[in-house]
Amino acid sequence: MYVLVTGASRGIGKSIVQKLLADEHKVIGTARSSEFPKEFQENKNFEGLHADLAVPHSIKSELKPIFEQSEAPNVLVNNAGIFDDCDFDEDDKAWLANFDKTLQVNLRAPALLSKWALNRWKKEGEGFLINISSRAAYRGDTQEYASYAASKGGLVAFTKSIARDFGEFGISAYSIAPGFIKTDMAMESIDIYGEDYLTEGMAFDEITSPEEVGELVAFLASGKVPHMTGATFHINGGSYMI
Ligand code: NAP
Repeated sequence: MYVLVTGASRGIGKSIVQKLLADEHKVIGTARSSEFPKEFQENKNFEGLHADLAVPHSIKSELKPIFEQSEAPNVLVNNAGIFDDCDFDEDDKAWLANFDKTLQVNLRAPALLSKWALNRWKKEGEGFLINISSRAAYRGDTQEYASYAASKGGLVAFTKSIARDFGEFGISAYSIAPGFIKTDMAMESIDIYGEDYLTEGMAFDEITSPEEVGELVAFLASGKVPHMTGATFHINGGSYMI
């Protein structure tokens, strides 16, 4: 399998790539600006690219060519995302700036990448799309993170639409909806509230590890459950069951 993983430098994306490389798959990983882990740089099956998903021309120049190469990834994992807060008390300009940037990075960019992948996979008769959404898509979030929840809800609906119409081309599309996962993104909440507080509503007394998400992605990408297309996989330590 040949996989494109966005947001591969840290957190969940890093764990996804670690698992895929351990299984000897070929991976293209992207990041905005961070260096990729040394272990990736030293692995002949890994290629790292930098593209800022907030900047449309960067996505087009850096990432569109991936799906125009003679050999293109048959799995796309839209993992990169931002979790930026903005209070409803902010002035309209600042509030809309947060809303637009969040939708650009978390929804518009993954949608465009999916479009390029799908048009390629349609010709090849196979492909797996895995979009990393969030528990917030189902449960909502606090008002400061309303843009984040909206972007992740949009990503789930987008994924379902692909699942409905692209199955006939051998393409499956899945969403994964994590709760708190121990990464930089969750660190701010962990720092403010502490791990004990965040695990209060969970079935376990520890925050979910990014490695678990890596295992799930590798399983979905394996092609073993194509008829689960359109499904959302909830991984939140039993904090929100649906
Ligand atoms: P993270 O630790 O903050 O890592 C984010 C990754 O995305 C990094 O590789 C980063 O690249 C990349 N990225 C951020 N902004 C980007 C941009 N504008 N353009 C290109 N790449 C960008 O995040 P994470 O916790 O692993 O989250 C991964 C995904 O899981 C996200 O979609 C997030 O919404 C979702 N999720 C996370 C949690 C959680 O609790 N952690 C819960 C639910 C859902 P750089 O290193 O270059 O900045």
